[in-house]
Amino acid sequence: MEYQFDFLVLGSGIAGLSFALKAARHGTVAVVTKKDKKETSTNYAQGGIATVLGPDDSFQLHSQDTINSGDGLCHPDVVEQVVRSGPERIQELVEIGVQFNPDRSAKSPFDLGREGGHSRNRIVHAQDFTGRALEQALIAAAEANPNIRFFENYFAVDLIIQHSSIRAGAFPMQQQDICRGAYVLHADTDEISTFLAHVVVLCTGGAGKVYLYTSNPDVATGDGLAMAYRAGARLANLEFVQFHPTCLYHPHAKNFLISEAVRGEGGRLIDRRGNAFMEKYHPLKDLAFRDVVARAIDTEMKRSGDDCVFLDITHRDPEFLKERFPNIYQKCFSLGIDMTRDPIPVVPAAHYMCGGILTDQWAQTNITQLYAIGECACTGLHGANRLASNSLLEAMVYAHQAAQQSLSQLQAWRDQSRPDIPIWPAALDNGASRFGEMILIAHNWDIIRRLMWNYVGIVRTDNRLSLARTHIAQIRLEIREHMPHIKLNNDLLELQNLALVAELIIRGAIQRKESRGLHYNMDHPLKDDAKWRRDTTIQREAKDSIWE
Ligand SMILES: Cc1cc2nc3c(=O)[nH]c(=O)nc-3n(C[C@H](O)[C@H](O)[C@H](O)COP(=O)(O)OP(=O)(O)OC[C@H]3O[C@@H](n4cnc5c(N)ncnc54)[C@H](O)[C@@H]3O)c2cc1C
Repeated sequence: MEYQFDFLVLGSGIAGLSFALKAARHGTVAVVTKKDKKETSTNYAQGGIATVLGPDDSFQLHSQDTINSGDGLCHPDVVEQVVRSGPERIQELVEIGVQFNPDRSAKSPFDLGREGGHSRNRIVHAQDFTGRALEQALIAAAEANPNIRFFENYFAVDLIIQHSSIRAGAFPMQQQDICRGAYVLHADTDEISTFLAHVVVLCTGGAGKVYLYTSNPDVATGDGLAMAYRAGARLANLEFVQFHPTCLYHPHAKNFLISEAVRGEGGRLIDRRGNAFMEKYHPLKDLAFRDVVARAIDTEMKRSGDDCVFLDITHRDPEFLKERFPNIYQKCFSLGIDMTRDPIPVVPAAHYMCGGILTDQWAQTNITQLYAIGECACTGLHGANRLASNSLLEAMVYAHQAAQQSLSQLQAWRDQSRPDIPIWPAALDNGASRFGEMILIAHNWDIIRRLMWNYVGIVRTDNRLSLARTHIAQIRLEIREHMPHIKLNNDLLELQNLALVAELIIRGAIQRKESRGLHYNMDHPLKDDAKWRRDTTIQREAKDSIWE
């Protein structure tokens, strides 16, 4: 099957839908998403969106907080562009029906929360279900738009890239790569379709699933990063993975965060024997910065060999806890943990990927007609450590930038003649059984996630990184050997992408011989501005084979 649209958007979170709504004013849009359209990280965002609306706030203060958090690697022009664009983007959300909590004192239009690293209250939110409110409103607006068509349960397998040589004026011939669309697997029929478009936008979100513990939903397997890398796009700063210190540790509690507010209300981190440990690590104890707390927990777990630590708030009045934390109380209680009497088992969890596909200020990648927006992109905003609640903002701002830029080019791209695009390379539709040895896939998923957690996690060493590189090479070899025997399916494709992204994170971490922001290497514990105040970049060299 072949489809043709003006715009092909891969992903239905805030990045994809914000872009789709703007692009649909000028052309047809396909939104391709590998699961149900609301199954996105966006849908699970809790805190809200950072933006300057308070009477005591300013663009300069928000920019400075962002730059402080980024530990020397934020691009100041990008920071300024994103911060200044914030209020307008929030207004657009209000216009499509997002109901943010109003400010009771009427000093600003909305109630503004405060989060770690922000010097002012500036987080607009819809209770603690902000992501759900955003996703619902964006989906409703997109569904009402006749120019937008959703393709749910369609898995983007690879980008379609035309490699051509061009001559500009008297200059010598140059290589130009143009993105023409993507090959997409429909999970219900096992059929691979060709989606062609003048503009292709990767909005595939993060890669938290590369780690054993993550706050991310199952869709976060780094597919966009892997597709972009295979296509020859440049990626940057993949070593900067943000870990949230406290995710609920329970076999049936997938991806559930225990908010920082529990520590704010007096919760203390203790080990299995009941000993509080944060005072060994920081004068602010349990209220130290996120990365400090995450590192301390990691150190305790590695030293003791325990699977988790505990967050103890049992000294507070039970009625207060039930009223202050209804969501957390209910979730824990449903799993047999009564937080008014039992310490809550917690582990740090991979939460946000600061690096990604390198883009310019218009969200363009180095491949013509290919854009990247949202968590899969690296714009230069976050530097070495994302400031809380800046990511939803970034996605909206870059959706706006990409729409503006691509619309200005659309007619010219429509007028271009398009080469014949081959159908999915037959060799890869290998006719193998859907039920090959699926245990091989499950086993390798597990090994990769444990390997990354143990060797490429919160605290790194040269030795562990080097071992991880060796192991991952072996796993990737094994995956390549499985492939001919198993019919293409989502699990296999995700495994392949996860393994590639793991390797790229390891390569980024090996490159950076210092500790900065979220990247902490015990063998290089200091920051080295002279050599490393710069982004690390990774790009595939050989373009002969799509599959790595
Ligand atoms: C629990 C949690 C709480 C958070 N809280 C906040 C917060 O308060 N404030 C804040 O700013 N940020 C927060 N974040 C981060 C923020 O939610 C994400 O960075 C942001 O939502 C990412 O949006 P996105 O559109 O880039 O990707 P997503 O919303 O993750 O969407 C990705 C989309 O791509 C699709 N996709 C992926 N691969 C493929 C493929 N191969 N083929 C087809 N489709 C594919 C997915 O199915 C999905 O539709 C939080 C994140 C989590 C997990």
